[in-house]
This record gives sequence, C-alpha cells and structure tokens, in this order.
Amino acid sequence: EPDDTPAPGTPDAEFENSLRPRRLSEVVGQRKVVERLGITLDAARRRGEPLGHLLLDGPPGLGKTTLATVVPRELDPDGGPGNIQFTSGPALRAPHDLVAYLTCATRGSVLFIDEIHRLPPAVEEYLYPAMEDFRVDIVMGEGTGARTVSLNIEPFTVIGATTRSGMLTAPLRDRFVNHERVEYYEVSDLAEIVRRNAAKLGLTVEGDAAEQLARRSRGTPRKANNLLRWCRDFTQVHSERGVLTPTLAARALEMREVDALGLEDQDRRYLRTIIEAFAGGPVGLSTLSHALSVPTDTLEDEVEPYLLRCGLMQRTSRGRVATVRAWEHLGLDRAADGGS
Ligand code: ATP
Repeated sequence: EPDDTPAPGTPDAEFENSLRPRRLSEVVGQRKVVERLGITLDAARRRGEPLGHLLLDGPPGLGKTTLATVVPRELDPDGGPGNIQFTSGPALRAPHDLVAYLTCATRGSVLFIDEIHRLPPAVEEYLYPAMEDFRVDIVMGEGTGARTVSLNIEPFTVIGATTRSGMLTAPLRDRFVNHERVEYYEVSDLAEIVRRNAAKLGLTVEGDAAEQLARRSRGTPRKANNLLRWCRDFTQVHSERGVLTPTLAARALEMREVDALGLEDQDRRYLRTIIEAFAGGPVGLSTLSHALSVPTDTLEDEVEPYLLRCGLMQRTSRGRVATVRAWEHLGLDRAADGGS
C-alpha cells in the first residue's frame, strides 16, 4: 500500500474515526477548500439537490476521507450522519462489484471511492452513466437469452480521492464538477488539531507541547494523531499527573526518532541513499526504488512530496537530486562526500 491508511475495522481505524471532525466548521485549516465546499454545500441544500461529484486530490493523511464524511452530514436535514458508502479503486475489480453500491445509493448519499486513479477501465466506463444520468445497465440472464436492462438510480454524489489526479483519464476527470486539492498543513493548524484531539482523548497538554508535536508531523494530521497517541502512552507511563508537559513531549519525540523537520527513518534513508550511493544524484526513480526496496508509488506519493516541500531534494529531467540543505540536515560534509 502506498500510504499508512489503517485497514477498516482495526483499532487504528477506530482511533482515527473517533478523532475525525464531524462538521465542516470543525475542519481545521484548508481554508480555501473549506470555504468553497461550504458554498457548494449551501447551494445544494437550497436547491434540494445532491452535491455535484467531487474529486479530492493530495498526499495521504491530509483529510480527504474526513472531508468526504462531512458532506452527507452537512446535507442531512435531520442533522444525522447521512448516508455514505466506502470503497476503493483496487477493490472494484469488475463492473458487477460496483452494482451493489450504485443500487444502494439513496438520494443525496455519497459513494466514496478511495484511490480512484486505480479503477480498472471497465469499471470506470460503467461508472460514467451512473455519474452522468444516474443510470446503470444490468445484464439479466446468460448466453443468447441475456438482455440488458437499464435501471434508474437515485441522484447521488461520487467523491473520489486520489494522490495522483494526473493519472485519471480525461473522461473521468471531466465528470467531476468539483475538484479540490488538499495541501500540507501549517504548524499552527496542526497544533490546533493536536489540542482538539488531546481534549477528545482526555489528555491535558501544557505549554508548547502541542506545537512540538505539530512541528514534527510532516504537515500531516494523520502523523500528528499518531504522535499524539504515542505521547499519550508516554505520559501514562512517565507522568504521575497524566499531563503532557513540554519536557515530557520532547523526551517522547526524541525516543520516537522523528527529527526536527518531522522526517522519519524512511525519509532519511531516502536522502542518505541519494547522497552516499549516488553522490547526491541525479538518480532515476526506479534505481532509487531498488536501492531502498521501497515501491516507486510509495516514494512518489508519500516520501518525495514532503521532501520537495522542505527543499531537501529536486526532481530534474535526469533524476532525483539531493540539495545542499539535505547534506546540512543530515549533518554530512558535502566536500568530503565528493558532492559538487
Ligand atoms: P488517506 O487519503 O490516506 O485516506 P486522508 O487524507 O483521507 O488520508 P483522513 O483519514 O481524513 O486523511 O485524516 C486522518 C486524521 O487526521 C483524521 O482522523 C482526523 O483526526 C485528522 N484530520 C485530518 N484533517 C483534519 C482537519 N482538517 N481538521 C482536523 N482534523 C483533521
């Protein structure tokens, strides 16, 4: 799997669900996305229509699932959770896998398709008439007696999530009237998420402990939650009062081995490999993938976007290059390593 999304039904997934904002007003950061979505939702509510199909694009853990779960809740006239079904591109292997979801869709409900760029072409084509005309074609019977029946379904909304909107075919992309890109979060927003989620977990956080966690979360709420969870355990064991103080947070983070920029072992290994095995680059993605035994997808979706954002590497036409900043960050001497 290209990201660390917890598998459904596991304790990790339950932890994540329990911390998920329920309303648009509880979503921290992503101000422009939230504003635009607010308007689209308001208009849909006033017209009594489902939301236009929505494509959410961006690195893992930035709140795509969260935004999707908020939509049906915002549209539910009784203020309930609304109706949302979850599936993913790889799980939909053939058109018939999609039929049950489509026929179960209620008016205004959401069908969330994670990793929508991985939909098989046949499934994708089957989705078009459903998205466009709220219609599915079902084959009845077999062999020469088989006939196709066209069935109307309730007007609903597809919310597609992808780490790679560039890999979507043009016809699929065109069927999404709304397209939003989620970006890495500012430290102040992440600190706010940490404070809110600590409160939900019943953990008291003092001083700048929340900021410390935020700075080491790689701009990613999911990482912030995972650090918070670790700090909660650490507090349980090391603090009589059960309070996460700045000192305790620093000790907990030190032990977790995330560095000052929030880089984890895999990120540092990536940079170290370019620098030590390939003299700082340029090196091709697949070569790097072999050297690290990490799939190219993971490197492209999970590792590189954040390193790029930190200015630690560059993508050039000849391959990946470590920047001066990477040498400095790892405490390596560029001249001694033969870099130029
Ligand atoms: P993936 O694409 O890998 O499924 P995602 O982008 O869908 O990831 P979510 O599962 O929505 O990420 O977010 C992970 C967790 O981060 C949520 O449980 C929630 O606690 C927190 N979170 C994400 N975005 C926000 C936000 N904008 N405000 C508050 N909390 C957030």
